[in-house]
Amino acid sequence: MDTSFDILDIEHKVSVDAGRELTSMKVSAKVKAVFYPKSERELIFLYDYFTKNKLPFKVLGNGSNVLFSESAKDLIVISCKKLGQRLSRKDDVVTISASSNLSHIYRFCQKNELSGFEKLASIPGTLGGALKMNAGAFGQCISDNLLSVRVYKEGRVCSLKKEALGFGYRTSNLKNCLVLSARFKLKREDKCKIEQDYYSYSISRAQKQPKGLSLGSVFKNPHLVSAGFLIDKCGLKGLQCGGAKISEKHGNFIINFNNATYNDIINLIEKIKKEVYDKFKIKLEEEIEII
Ligand SMILES: Cc1cc2nc3c(=O)[nH]c(=O)nc-3n(C[C@H](O)[C@H](O)[C@H](O)COP(=O)(O)OP(=O)(O)OC[C@H]3O[C@@H](n4cnc5c(N)ncnc54)[C@H](O)[C@@H]3O)c2cc1C
Repeated sequence: MDTSFDILDIEHKVSVDAGRELTSMKVSAKVKAVFYPKSERELIFLYDYFTKNKLPFKVLGNGSNVLFSESAKDLIVISCKKLGQRLSRKDDVVTISASSNLSHIYRFCQKNELSGFEKLASIPGTLGGALKMNAGAFGQCISDNLLSVRVYKEGRVCSLKKEALGFGYRTSNLKNCLVLSARFKLKREDKCKIEQDYYSYSISRAQKQPKGLSLGSVFKNPHLVSAGFLIDKCGLKGLQCGGAKISEKHGNFIINFNNATYNDIINLIEKIKKEVYDKFKIKLEEEIEII
């Protein structure tokens, strides 16, 4: 097979530090190539091509939940960054392309006097990434107001109802498909009220969460208790490994403060898991995806 990729005639770069360029934690990790489709047609074409030719690949939204390991060197990334953000509205139902940022979706809804994205607006991801892991904040999940998701799966585009998608706490069964767009039924609300709510959630988030390069919460919350609380009780806040540290502000955040490597992050993750298990007999599970 021709691996010069030029024959595909879709914008791409080879041998890219996708960790630094395409993830929010900016931990260096080279991948074989990154493709930037500019239309849904190009996106589906690449998805099909790499699947059929058994080339390992990964679709990436904003890379705000993904940590690449050294074994990503053989991976091809399909970045959704140049796909554009398409949103439309009919009454109180909005249709949104998967590459739209949650902050952009909030602004569209606020202008259209539709409530439902105020709590989720500050999550720095795209709709596709958020749906896949059923992202959430302040007790609301992306799947709450969802009607259906349009996906590309097993060679065809189809629309799947929310009930078929197995949404749970930070999980869904959208694992083996390409998310194209989704429909949400929202609630009519006054523009100013929507904005006020948005600001109060944003302020609350800024008070609780640290600044700096991260992937948000590293671990899922175990039943009835927060992972951050357990990590704090183990006295691990502020612990450093190389260029990475456990945030002093929020124990469930690992910050890349000085060119952290993949191993720095993994060492902290393993240390946290061990200490929390030794003290509480609770096994923490990663919320972030390690590839
Ligand atoms: C500072 C900070 C705060 C955060 N706060 C929160 C929070 O409050 N709540 C929360 O739930 N998360 C939070 N996160 C994590 C992250 O932002 C969310 O998980 C977000 O939904 C990921 O979206 P993404 O576009 O960045 O996905 P990516 O990281 O790019 O990808 C995540 C997964 O989704 C898949 N994916 C992406 N697009 C598609 C597509 N179109 N089709 C199929 N699969 C796709 C990828 O293959 C990957 O498996 C935070 C992260 C940061 C850095």
